[in-house]
Amino acid sequence: MDLTPFAEAYRETNRRMVQLLDFLSALHALSEVGPAVTDQRKMLDQALKGLLENQNMSRCSVFLCEHDQLVNAAGLSWAELIGLPGQAVRRAFPVGDGVMGRAVTTGVVQYSSDCRNDPAFLSLPADISPAVSSLISVPIRIADNVLGVLNVSHTDSDAFGPDEERLLTLYAHFLGQMLVNWQHVHNLEEQVGQRTRELESALEEARELQQRFQSLAVLDDLTGLHNRRFFFAEARAILARGLRQGSAASLILLDLDHFKRINDEFGHAAGDQVLQDVALALGQLVREGDVLSRYGGEEFVLLLPGTDLDGAIGVGKRIRQALAGLAWVFDDSGPQRITASIGICTLVLEGPRRHPPPGDVLENMLARADLTMYASKDAGRNCLRVSTLELLDNP
Ligand code: GH3
Ligand code: MG
Ligand code: MG
Repeated sequence: MDLTPFAEAYRETNRRMVQLLDFLSALHALSEVGPAVTDQRKMLDQALKGLLENQNMSRCSVFLCEHDQLVNAAGLSWAELIGLPGQAVRRAFPVGDGVMGRAVTTGVVQYSSDCRNDPAFLSLPADISPAVSSLISVPIRIADNVLGVLNVSHTDSDAFGPDEERLLTLYAHFLGQMLVNWQHVHNLEEQVGQRTRELESALEEARELQQRFQSLAVLDDLTGLHNRRFFFAEARAILARGLRQGSAASLILLDLDHFKRINDEFGHAAGDQVLQDVALALGQLVREGDVLSRYGGEEFVLLLPGTDLDGAIGVGKRIRQALAGLAWVFDDSGPQRITASIGICTLVLEGPRRHPPPGDVLENMLARADLTMYASKDAGRNCLRVSTLELLDNP
């Protein structure tokens, strides 16, 4: 009995089995390309590496459709694909051109078993002489949409048959799915990243705006000191703390003497200049924790937490000295100086277990400091008068 047909059938079955196993290995390699790869070319290169390692072929590449162009997306450049590394590298060419183009326009696998004699192949530029003999261009499709082509080539002619066509079609299908999924994930990541960046910059703008509005609302335009509104809020909170802890506090109110004269004689701008310089001088005297504000036109207020009467008198004296050190020359009438009438009210706490609300205490201190300041005016200005607000223990 002639066993040759059986032996041939066995060899053929064996060949197909090996081919199938190789193909499954290529698919397995494809399934291991993770979405963690952030670059599309690297991701496709990784996929094609698995194919090259497990299939009998010389080169493979992926070209993707971009508008009316087919653009090299991975593997080898088109020139390298046909055996000319480093020469006339065309990374893109019009859809419809050559074998690959036909695969895209028809959506059907194109196989050239002998590229050297294939007119579609030979119609390519003369400076690219094909060293490729067999070429399969498989459309990468998702439903009716052709994303591009998977090219597999061999230096031998007739290297591929219907089996390779079928298996590579299947492979291209999985490759297309993977590509689309990868693009979805990464487009989404990019969109999320873009949105996050937009949100962050909007947030930053909002923060800056908030800060600007907040500072505009609490600062005095002319002097840059805190305004009266800020003073009340801040001083009340500080006093509340002081009252809880039973610590003293002093309040200094100062009103510039005959300030109107500066405006009248040298103009409003000169008056503004004086107010700014006085504010600067006062600002240099305060310690951290003190609250200095422009209380009105030419009046300033200073809350000194934890400062008793002697301490406050010391600050008042330093204020008078600082003002005495200022002088302005507005015209040829000589240097102009300014003085202030100062009223101090010190809060004296002698062990009260209960005390009035901090807002009331503040109003009371301000009223007393104001009266005392007017007492300074009455006493001839450029001087300092003191008063106290005593909160005593109620037996
Ligand atoms: P006194 O010693 O009694 O306090 O006399 P005075 O001139 O300082 O007081 P008066 O209340 O008569 O005048 C205060 C002046 O301060 C009047 C007002 O036009 C001026 N003034 C208030 N705010 C500003 C300001 O922002 N800029 C300028 N240039 N002048 C201001
Ligand atoms: Mg005044
Ligand atoms: Mg005044």
